[in-house]
Amino acid sequence: MASSPDTPQPPAGTPRTAAAARRKTTRHRGEGQWAKGHFTPLNANEQTKKDDDGLNVRTRIETIYAKAGFDSIDGADLRGRMRWWGLYTQRRPGIDGGRTAILEPEELDDRYFMMRVRIDGGRLSVPQLRVIGEISQEFARGTADITDRQNVQYHWIRIEDVPEIWRRLEEVGLSTTEACGDTPRTILGSPVAGIAEDEIIDGTPAIEAIKTRYIGSKEFSNLPRKFKTAISGSRLLDVVHEINDVSFVGVEHPEHGPGFDLWVGGALSTNPRLGERLGAWVPLDEVPEVWAGVVGIFRDYGYRRLRSRARLKFLLADWGPEKFRQVLEEEYLHRPLVDGPAPELPTQVWRDHIGVHKQQDGRFYVGFAPRVGRIDGTTLIRIAELAGHHGSDRVRTTTDQKMLILDIEESQVESLISGLKSLDLQVHPSPFRRGTMACTGIEFCKLAIVETKGRGAALIDELERRLPDFDQPVNININGCPNSCARIQTADIGLKGQLVTGPDGQQTEGFQVHLGGSLGLTPGFGRKVRGLKVTADELPDYVERVLTRFEAEREDGER
Ligand code: SF4
Repeated sequence: MASSPDTPQPPAGTPRTAAAARRKTTRHRGEGQWAKGHFTPLNANEQTKKDDDGLNVRTRIETIYAKAGFDSIDGADLRGRMRWWGLYTQRRPGIDGGRTAILEPEELDDRYFMMRVRIDGGRLSVPQLRVIGEISQEFARGTADITDRQNVQYHWIRIEDVPEIWRRLEEVGLSTTEACGDTPRTILGSPVAGIAEDEIIDGTPAIEAIKTRYIGSKEFSNLPRKFKTAISGSRLLDVVHEINDVSFVGVEHPEHGPGFDLWVGGALSTNPRLGERLGAWVPLDEVPEVWAGVVGIFRDYGYRRLRSRARLKFLLADWGPEKFRQVLEEEYLHRPLVDGPAPELPTQVWRDHIGVHKQQDGRFYVGFAPRVGRIDGTTLIRIAELAGHHGSDRVRTTTDQKMLILDIEESQVESLISGLKSLDLQVHPSPFRRGTMACTGIEFCKLAIVETKGRGAALIDELERRLPDFDQPVNININGCPNSCARIQTADIGLKGQLVTGPDGQQTEGFQVHLGGSLGLTPGFGRKVRGLKVTADELPDYVERVLTRFEAEREDGER
């Protein structure tokens, strides 16, 4: 369909080849795909993005909103474009989960913001960590959660403080640019890139090149929805590559040597789908170009009519990997990709780098576990001090809400471990502390139905008390609503927050249970056990029963 004179034109770089124009819309007509000439916004989100690029809101924040206060913020900026700079309004306190779905968005809005700091590859220097901690203390009431996408998330941010926070972050090379919104989000990277003894390839140069060339660029600032990237050359496949929109996974090519295997179309949420291999091998220096090609396909061919279908996984489901690769090669790269082998399966279940491990250079890295990613600004500053005191300048965040300190001499390891322990950060945690994650939940999230972080921390303590000898790897992922920010479908025990009927017949906070999900060795989604719901109060009893029975009846090697 040709665009009419009054429809907006695609950004530079959108392919309009004869082949693309001829390609017939089959099952889904009028999905709002730009490459098919469908430029008229088909929903309010698309209209907001057409009206003004999300990145442009920064100027208004700095020159108007931060000076005139919360009430001066335009509604479309407040609930839309501010995300392009990592800002969401947080949930107004005191609204229970039963009212989440029935209230208007503005009734759920607090006058404070959640702010996400982008930490690509989970890479932080000690001075950067210190600044993150100081901002938390000064502007975020001490909050600073480590997210499962390697970011730090603040709460209680006032609009008046945002420009000063940006100034301090940017002074040390950090930002909130495109940390949220319909953009290329933070790029996941192996926390041990460049230091792991058995690494296949260090993906850091590719992450840095993508960040420099494309993050904050208007070439990709209007995507159909969020776009998630993972790049890792670790043999542990430590960046949940199966559930990102695009992943580059370290692999040895028999002729060309180390490079990356290309995966596309993974995502969780309400229609989970594992990513698929395109069978292509990509050398390190071509990763940014291939990445831009995949993002370009999403921008141009991605479905924009319904938000619920506006992820790359839906396009991949309709096209299949062969057609996806063909379009990538013909219309975006203008050259064929090299065929390549699949990555080897990881050698162990835990991929979180917890514990003490030797580096390539003979020094050690030390991975430690807070409870469900919950840290505070004071603790972050203490971690920075501990790292510096033990001769390290480098810290990492992981995709499991954990942290690492790198470059520790052997003689310093025990001292560091005891320093971390004094902060209640465990280098040798129980499987429960190691394997439990929780999303933000009702404390701050406007979509939440139940509380998660506090329950996750309490569940860990309770299981440690009840099952002190349990030593099997186990993931328990707790979500506050049907979305999957804490990856419920990929956990051994996935808990999806919802209202359930309690023993007294009244609606109460609880969880739908998913069992048997996994990534890595045996990737697959957990099964929703029909009718199996537990109230939040029953949760420790339920998990204890499942784990006790598993331990008693498991076969050799069974997870
Ligand atoms: Fe919020 Fe739901 Fe995501 Fe949890 S899973 S952070 S409750 S949207």
